[in-house]
Amino acid sequence: MKKPAPSTSIIHDPYTPPDGFSAFPPAIHHASTVLFPNVAAMRSGDWKSKQAYTYGLHGTPTTFTLEARLAAIEGGAHGLLAPSGLAAIAMVDMALLKAGDDVLMPQNVYYPNSEMGSWLARDFGVSARYYDPLIGAGIAELIQPNTKLVWAEAPGSVTMEVPDVPAIAAAAHAKGALVALDNTWSAGLALKGFDVGADIVLQALTKYQSGGSDLLMGAVITRDRALNDRIAMAHMRLGMGVSADDAYLVMRGLSSLKVRFDAHDAGARAVATWLQARPEVTRMLHPAFADCPGHDVWQRDFTGAGGLFSFTLDERYTEQQTDRFVDALTLFKIGYSWGGAHSLVMPYNVQRMRPNWPDKGTLVRLHIGLEDPQDLIADLAQALAELGK
Ligand SMILES: *Cc1c(COP(=O)(O)O)cnc(C)c1O
Repeated sequence: MKKPAPSTSIIHDPYTPPDGFSAFPPAIHHASTVLFPNVAAMRSGDWKSKQAYTYGLHGTPTTFTLEARLAAIEGGAHGLLAPSGLAAIAMVDMALLKAGDDVLMPQNVYYPNSEMGSWLARDFGVSARYYDPLIGAGIAELIQPNTKLVWAEAPGSVTMEVPDVPAIAAAAHAKGALVALDNTWSAGLALKGFDVGADIVLQALTKYQSGGSDLLMGAVITRDRALNDRIAMAHMRLGMGVSADDAYLVMRGLSSLKVRFDAHDAGARAVATWLQARPEVTRMLHPAFADCPGHDVWQRDFTGAGGLFSFTLDERYTEQQTDRFVDALTLFKIGYSWGGAHSLVMPYNVQRMRPNWPDKGTLVRLHIGLEDPQDLIADLAQALAELGK
């Protein structure tokens, strides 16, 4: 062939990297198009196989490596990535529910998950019903012949009730329903979802796995190959692609996941212990504290707690006063999400969301970051002084 023109040689290069390059970081494969060595290889390519590559959307060595690491953390066998935690939730629903089916989810479920349920009910002929997160074995009475999926969240990420997942799973399995557990709060470290009976474990990697407050991603982990393949069909049909750079960042975060999680946990318990002794605080909604509904279940099933908890303020404080307290915090920033190094605060008027909620006071949720807990306590002390004003 004649020497290529400049416009060709800036696209094709003659360098073939020799085998043997080795380094700790996983390679970041950016790819939409995946190349086949010949037509036969292209024709025999199976998009479902993780031993072969067909198209960037269905996986690259980067995303398959992350899926395998996440499955290992949870004690699962298969992982699927989605562009956000919520996309992962939607993928599970779309994979497992069809018109005429019924799905159960707890009243304290991650709010957009219940919004997804309402949408399925309104426009897709699925019935979505909500159960008391503390229902335990009592859920058996709610399970109908058409109930295909039961969601659980351990604990609910605002009001913090810890559900009895083994009891819920036993009741669901007795009637042929699958159990999907949103295990984001414990990052797959403090609660082993498959050990408590989940068939499907969901993680919002946006939180602790990233740890950087800089990306969105979700994962769906299973043990059963056939169940994974059902969800993989939805993954393919919905086009659930993730960025190679983001997948790399999650893997970078995973190396320090355990030490970060333990540091969040220790900081949160120090701050919660201090807050609990304050006269302004009526209930400590931290699963490791006796006040928290389901504390006994937490003691039985969990090995840790991480950085996210809530507390309620005495009902004599108005919502405006609570807002003033939140605004007065300086180290705690106001924002959704959690799992990163920065501490976060968010006030919730739970009575408006859940009419049967027992507390009258405002609920404040904290994410304890990686700052020194004594500095966080000093920040809370100065802001609580504003509360009564
Ligand atoms: C944040 C979160 C999600 C959703 O994750 P995104 O990546 O923000 O979509 C789902 N479940 C729980 C419990 C969460 O905290």
